[in-house]
Amino acid sequence: MSDCIFCAIAAKDIHGRIVHETEHSLAFLDVNPLAPGHTLVVPKDHYARLDDLPEEISADLWRTVDELVPRVEAAVDADATNVGMNNGPAAGQEVEHVHVHIVPRFEGDGGSPIHAVGGTRPDLSDEELDDIEAAISN
Ligand code: 5GP
Ligand code: ZN
Repeated sequence: MSDCIFCAIAAKDIHGRIVHETEHSLAFLDVNPLAPGHTLVVPKDHYARLDDLPEEISADLWRTVDELVPRVEAAVDADATNVGMNNGPAAGQEVEHVHVHIVPRFEGDGGSPIHAVGGTRPDLSDEELDDIEAAISN
């Protein structure tokens, strides 16, 4: 997509601190890192949402994430990582090109667990839970 910043990095039209590349995926440092080593893993082609990815591209993306997590942790001597994505604008996705965040974490760094992304916690009845379970299962 012509006006997409991650497409431009993938095409090497603009500079990115690229740390790994596969046939379908690219990993580079986040320009505004939440922690040293904050890395983004993206498909080279433009897809907005996770469920837009063809199976082969998705498999390559998650394999790349899996491979990079220990490398990123080792590179910055992290104690742990948060790995996740904002999948859609309502979830906070600002760049509409699929990207997985690898955020290194350090003991006492003052950050939050991934549970902090939710809004007010719902108080769900057993019936509502039954409906949700069935809806996802189908
Ligand atoms: P989102 O909110 O869409 O999940 O996160 C987008 C991420 O992309 C942010 O963490 C932001 O710092 C990063 N980002 C935005 N523009 C650029 C850029 O031009 N280069 C790089 N390397 N990262 C970017
Ligand atoms: Zn793009």
